[in-house]
Amino acid sequence: MLPDLWFDPSLCLINGAWVPPASGDTLDLVNPSDGSTLCAIARGTSPDIDAAVAAAQAARMGDWGRFTAAERGRVLTRLGQLVLNHTDTLALLEALDVGKPLTQARNDVIALARYCEFYGGAADKVHGETIPYLDGYTVYTIREPYGVTGHIVPWNYPMQIIGRSVGAALAMGNACVLKPAEEACLTALAFADLAQQAGLPAGALNVVPGLGAEAGAALSEHPGIQHISFTGSVATGSLIQAAAAKNVVPVTLELGGKSPQLVFSDADLDAALPFLVNAGIQNAGQTCSASSRILVQRPVYDQVRARMSTAYGKLRAAPATDNLELGPLISTRQQQIVQSFLDKGADLETAATGEIVSNAPTNGAYIAPTLFADVSPNHALAQQEIFGPVQVLIPFDTEEEALEIANGTEYGLVASVWSQNGARQMRLARQLRSGQVFLNNYGAGGGVELPFGGTGKSGHGREKGFEALFHFSQLKTVAALHG
Ligand code: NAD
Repeated sequence: MLPDLWFDPSLCLINGAWVPPASGDTLDLVNPSDGSTLCAIARGTSPDIDAAVAAAQAARMGDWGRFTAAERGRVLTRLGQLVLNHTDTLALLEALDVGKPLTQARNDVIALARYCEFYGGAADKVHGETIPYLDGYTVYTIREPYGVTGHIVPWNYPMQIIGRSVGAALAMGNACVLKPAEEACLTALAFADLAQQAGLPAGALNVVPGLGAEAGAALSEHPGIQHISFTGSVATGSLIQAAAAKNVVPVTLELGGKSPQLVFSDADLDAALPFLVNAGIQNAGQTCSASSRILVQRPVYDQVRARMSTAYGKLRAAPATDNLELGPLISTRQQQIVQSFLDKGADLETAATGEIVSNAPTNGAYIAPTLFADVSPNHALAQQEIFGPVQVLIPFDTEEEALEIANGTEYGLVASVWSQNGARQMRLARQLRSGQVFLNNYGAGGGVELPFGGTGKSGHGREKGFEALFHFSQLKTVAALHG
């Protein structure tokens, strides 16, 4: 059951007003913990995207465009506080909508508030510079917003992804059109309403829920957008890049991964163990930076396998509000995708599985977490993104072999190295083909300050940290000849 909402989730937010979608149609939002319908959401389509882009353009030309950087920062800072004031409600909405355990959902609320605070504080600290040049010239740069930015976000971490992309875009003065995922969009709507309460002018942030092939495609193809930020699958990312290419607008793509952790025989296994398991099963494995490959040097392989198997034996998948280690997957469709991978692993040795609690509703999208052992690096389960609570153990002998396996997929998002050998850490930090490398940890607590993004099919561009502010703005060069 949804808590009482202070906004109507069946509407779109366009130009500061909650309005029905032009289609008059709605979509059912499903609770993946039990298959029940949570509520109806708007089925936005092309005319709603047109209206949202027009509103964003007007906001840029109007009130929002006149805000100073300090004023934009103040709005974002106030918004961060409002998010914190609504922690319980936002966490519950995310838990019901996405199926993630309440504790993980609370962490996402805190991260969203941190993004607002961080980008609020940074808004007036990004600027151009003067450049020494030929005698008689004064040259300087001005950092400007792109204009209207499109944000297409997935269902796995709605609040975190909205915080990092919309937060940075607003800080730089862009006006945003947000298309949340049709599977989970309640916190996107709640966030946009709180943004209005924080003083964001009408049209600076517009939200149009709807299907990817309708509202999403209309947004990515829209000629009124000057930048697009997308997080999701490689297939959709490729479509979005093609659409943006037609309008010659820049794209930030944050796609999937097959992220490895490399465990050497000199590693502190006590320290490593919780990271090895948690990085694979957090959010039921539906995380772009999930660590789905655990590469272990042979002298400690049996020990790591035994200890991870013991940990797996204690994992429980249960309704999100039970707040155990795992919730359900986002949908029965995702459950079928993950099950098809488990079927592909029928030829593999299952080292351990967790359990689905016995009273889990039968219509929920549950999958028991599964650890496979002795997997060949070329096996489909060691190559393809599964997006479920499934990890593979791959043994290796030498550092060179570990590096080759780690770099041997089409992805390159995150990698970690567990070793007490400092020279090896530094070597691998350089040689691993990955947007992020963690040494003797995994994820560094996910701090909003850390730039994040991929190489290869994991995408391009960087979000999070100060770096994102450069991706949501562009430089104008001014050169004055004064003799
Ligand atoms: P998706 O890429 O299809 O959807 C993500 C977002 O893109 C949603 O808002 C969706 O409505 C929108 N979208 C879909 N088709 C579109 C189109 N043609 N034009 C514009 N927007 C469009 O992902 P999915 O179907 O939800 O999940 C499929 C797979 O994607 C998963 O199994 C997983 O492997 C991957 N995925 C990755 C991430 C990530 O964080 N990297 C997040 C979600 C899903």
